Amino acid sequence: MITFYPGPSKVYPQVGPYLQEAVESGLISANHRSEAFMQMLQHTVLSLKTKLDVPDDYEVYFVSSATECWEIIAQSLISASSTHIYNGAFGEKWMQYTHKITAGANAFYFDSETVPDLNKLYFQENEVICVTHSETSNGTFLPSSFLSELRSRTENLIAVDATSSMAGVALPWQNADIWYASVQKCFGLPAGLGVMIVSPRAVRRAEEIGENKHYNSLLFIRDNFLKFQTPYTPNTLGIYLIGKVMEQVEQIEIISEIIQQRAKNWYQFLAENGYELLVKNEAVRSGTVIAVHAEKTRIAELKKAAKQDGITLGNGYGKDKETSFRIANFPAISDEEIAVLKGFLIRTASNK
Ligand SMILES: *Cc1c(COP(=O)(O)O)cnc(C)c1O
Repeated sequence: MITFYPGPSKVYPQVGPYLQEAVESGLISANHRSEAFMQMLQHTVLSLKTKLDVPDDYEVYFVSSATECWEIIAQSLISASSTHIYNGAFGEKWMQYTHKITAGANAFYFDSETVPDLNKLYFQENEVICVTHSETSNGTFLPSSFLSELRSRTENLIAVDATSSMAGVALPWQNADIWYASVQKCFGLPAGLGVMIVSPRAVRRAEEIGENKHYNSLLFIRDNFLKFQTPYTPNTLGIYLIGKVMEQVEQIEIISEIIQQRAKNWYQFLAENGYELLVKNEAVRSGTVIAVHAEKTRIAELKKAAKQDGITLGNGYGKDKETSFRIANFPAISDEEIAVLKGFLIRTASNK
């Protein structure tokens, strides 16, 4: 079976041998306050910062998932209110989840064919601005011009859900204060680890708020990571694997270029073969998650036929669940696999 599911998604083939090595090295049986663990964590953070081009003064923490980051941000960085600029299911869930914790989450919904209009937004002092970089549910993307424009207009903290873009495309780190992702998307790793990257400004704000009531309070996590430790017994295997994968992969600029070229090819290929793209506006199409729209019955047929050919397509998600399928365009997927899916889509094209 080859999989184009946008998370959990295909893991790098090297993950197999790395698992074996992790067991043989004894590291995953080591205490998480041991020298061996701390060295491994330090090395892993360094590899990640180097390969993903993270600014030196931004800090990296490993947590359990992107969803946990919603909780950490709500607890430790939102003192009163947040504004959630979103167009799809993940951005909406983030808003709803935050509202349960803070009772101060404002929704700014925008149409998925458009770039959000910043002229319509007013932020209160200390309000955290929450955006979804790649909305995995509907295959849209915020253009980098949006993030730079947002940054230039406000001193407020900007938090970005980059779950299906981090490690797949180069990110404009300086244009936001909190970036996070789960590793089962563009990192090509098994689920169970989240990556949170924060700016010095976000750290200062957390210190001003001083929230320290939870096992996953940002300040508590940070105190531990400054010593290359973790507040609780961590997913050592997950951290080991991300370290190995970060050593193995090319610099993000190179990966980003490949992903963007592949995305361009995908969009062109699908249009040429009579597939209707869910997102019509090219300027807001995601480079990492490609969504195809069709009638409910056709979607069901395509997914079934693909399965018979050994290919897993991503289901639709949220409101487009039954009328779309998604194709992950993540770095761990090979050119050969893409060729197999293209062959299938040519055979099953409706315009023949
Ligand atoms: C997958 C995904 C999440 C959730 O990730 P978990 O690992 O399940 O917490 C959140 N946001 C976006 C944009 C996603 O793609």
